Amino acid sequence: MEKIKMTTPLVEMDGDEMTRILWQYIKDDLILPYVDLKTEYYDLGLKHGDETDDQVTIDSANATLKYGVAVKCATITPNADRVKEYDLKEMYKSPNGTIRAILDGTVFRAPIKVNGIEPNVKSWKKPITLARHAYGDVYKNSEMKIDGPGKAELVFTGADGKEVRQTIFDFAGPGIIQGQYNTDASIESFAKCCFEYALSTKQELWFGAKDTISKKYDARFRDIFNETFEKEYKEKFEKAGITYFYTLIDDAVARVMKSEGGFIWACKNYDGDVMSDMVSSACGSLALMTSVLVSPKGVYEYEAAHGTVQRHYYKHLKGEETSTNPVATIFAWSGAFRKRGEFDNNQALMDFADRLEKATLSTIESGYMTKDLVHLTTMKDIHTLNTEDFIKKIAENM
Ligand code: NAP
Ligand code: MG
Repeated sequence: MEKIKMTTPLVEMDGDEMTRILWQYIKDDLILPYVDLKTEYYDLGLKHGDETDDQVTIDSANATLKYGVAVKCATITPNADRVKEYDLKEMYKSPNGTIRAILDGTVFRAPIKVNGIEPNVKSWKKPITLARHAYGDVYKNSEMKIDGPGKAELVFTGADGKEVRQTIFDFAGPGIIQGQYNTDASIESFAKCCFEYALSTKQELWFGAKDTISKKYDARFRDIFNETFEKEYKEKFEKAGITYFYTLIDDAVARVMKSEGGFIWACKNYDGDVMSDMVSSACGSLALMTSVLVSPKGVYEYEAAHGTVQRHYYKHLKGEETSTNPVATIFAWSGAFRKRGEFDNNQALMDFADRLEKATLSTIESGYMTKDLVHLTTMKDIHTLNTEDFIKKIAENM
């Protein structure tokens, strides 16, 4: 069989621990036999990151800007323990944070639907993709504990020195206050990422905020979304046959629980933090959750939503058998191939992405799975496989 040709390389970001092991298995058994793989390889594993003083992370993000599509393996975000374990020169920032700062994007997460592993919410027939605005609000707040009576004020001093002042509260006793901010630029970039991703996946877009109570702050989010939509996306959405709608966050939650799924749900930072955990746990497993960073600059970085699965890696190092689920990492590759194919007009590569996903899902649906899925499934005749055998089984189905 002739291998599928690629015209433009994918940016390949290798990572750490158990997911680094999965990475190699996936390439060897599921990709290299079929694709004449072209990648620009960046080793974001912690050891190599340290050797390059984290420059490799920055280089990989810049390569993503150049080529447009990246696929990333999970990586360790160093903490004090990791600095000791890997004898690091310093406690580097999270690679994902560094990459996101360069690409300026929004992360979209969606559960992978498998027949036989049903979400806890019965009406959800299709995946719900959650988009979280990962900037500002309560995550960049300034807080104060107030010890006794006094007046709290909101003060803005313009660059010209002019002051605007507003009373927050006249305290009669102790209490608390908090200041939050966001910027028009960040909200607009978030809105654009959401509209672009809705178009790229042909799904409806919902956005919810609390503009009835927060008549300036949340209303600004609503207005920027509406203005951006009217100005740049209305016609494109009509052409694609999809819709955008804004509603109150509480109404959005109620609708989501009664919906069939199959749409993108855009959330403010805090709402997205909370709601993504709700959607993912209702769908069963982090190992069945995909994640893609979409930049307003039109570039895409695909990965799994889970981490490096450290506990399994230590077992692997001791020579013990592991049963680590590679599905989200396989879907990171298929997502990247599909997008690369779309950009390059490479139908064979897009078809390969479909085949890879289908082979993976049908393997599980025929009863062969990793341990984490066994307690989630309603299927009867189940075969629990170890990490390598599960990938081999998918290869057989390919
Ligand atoms: P984790 O890798 O997400 O794993 C936590 C637990 O979830 C595992 O111990 C395992 O449970 C289960 N799990 C997750 N993925 C699985 C899979 N594919 N197959 C089977 N079970 C799976 O989180 P962690 O172990 O707490 O974090 C390890 C490292 O990952 C940390 O250093 C963190 O910085 C990093 N991290 C990276 C990213 C990223 O690069 N995007 C994201 C999150 C975390 P059982 O042990 O019960 O089987
Ligand atoms: Mg959270």
